[in-house]
Amino acid sequence: MNQPELSVVVPIFNEEAGLAALFARLYPALDALGTSYELILINDGSRDKSAAMLSAQFRVRPDVTRVVLLNGNYGQHMAILAGFEHSSGEIVVTLDADLQNPPEEIGKLVAKMREGYDYVGTIRQQRQDSLFRRKASRMMNRLRERITHIKMTDQGCMLRAYNRHIIDTINRCNEVNTFIPALAYTFAQNPVEIEVAHEERYAGESKYSLYSLIRLNFDLVTGFSVVPLQWLSFMGILLAMGSAGLFVLLLVRRFVLGAEVQGVFTLFAITFFLLGTILFALGLLGEYIGRIYQQVRARPRYLVQAVLDQRETPGSTQAGYVSLNSPVSVPGAVSAARPPGAAQDGETP
Ligand code: UDP
Ligand code: MG
Repeated sequence: MNQPELSVVVPIFNEEAGLAALFARLYPALDALGTSYELILINDGSRDKSAAMLSAQFRVRPDVTRVVLLNGNYGQHMAILAGFEHSSGEIVVTLDADLQNPPEEIGKLVAKMREGYDYVGTIRQQRQDSLFRRKASRMMNRLRERITHIKMTDQGCMLRAYNRHIIDTINRCNEVNTFIPALAYTFAQNPVEIEVAHEERYAGESKYSLYSLIRLNFDLVTGFSVVPLQWLSFMGILLAMGSAGLFVLLLVRRFVLGAEVQGVFTLFAITFFLLGTILFALGLLGEYIGRIYQQVRARPRYLVQAVLDQRETPGSTQAGYVSLNSPVSVPGAVSAARPPGAAQDGETP
């Protein structure tokens, strides 16, 4: 089973409380599909027992499991990218580890992909999030859709399926800040959306605060469009015309009414409004420049500490390796990762 039909990529950050429940549902759901699959679990620098649990799980199902251990917390999307690089399936499905996306729904996505679509997005039926969260994301969604022309009814749902050509293209991208469903959408030729069930988070807490949600949406807009910059220029033109009008008005009043001191506070108000606008514009410019800065430094986006893998595929350079500078030891990883009879020396990268 060298190239499975299906790869399932799951990013994991401090999910020890829910992992057992996830595995108990995910493996049966995938086995029930009756197709070849691989499960790629990425530990995004968890500080709890998640990493140890993943390597234990690798030893339970080494035939279909691959574990990528990152050496720090790089965020959900970087973790998924690391997973993509180690995936080889024709269909790649991303899934959250918290069981908010029921693993049993993967079959629906696979069926849709087999109909010939190259991108299957999802819409959550009866979203199990707070009302505020639902309202906020609907608003953000609409705004983002207008700016970026990326059509995603429900951008928050990560249970999505992508064709191999999309994954290969994503693997060639080097974006530092990105949002995978949107990035994938820009490469999709034949996208479709389906409805999937949504459940409450099984255990633990959401890893996203309100601040990081706002950041994410900002990233989405500035990462996929320069329209906000054009809006700024437009606003600049309007303001310039407005102040020209004001100047003429004041001039006329000077000649008609003579010298007057009223209106000083109006001028203050206008000045502060302009100052605010300028600061906002600077901030927005900075946002783009910050991105350029991060991008030109071209640092590695994430560091892989170890990969637990039994098979040899194009995704990984070695069949099962644990890097030398690994600060955290993964018990049994080296022996478990080596295929029986494989060379024992000269193979560690
Ligand atoms: N996650 C991650 N790195 C992070 C934050 C989150 O890998 O820095 C994973 C997390 O373990 C989960 C998924 O991304 O599998 C979605 O996170 P979460 O459920 O907290 O987000 P929400 O559902 O609230 O949007
Ligand atoms: Mg969640």
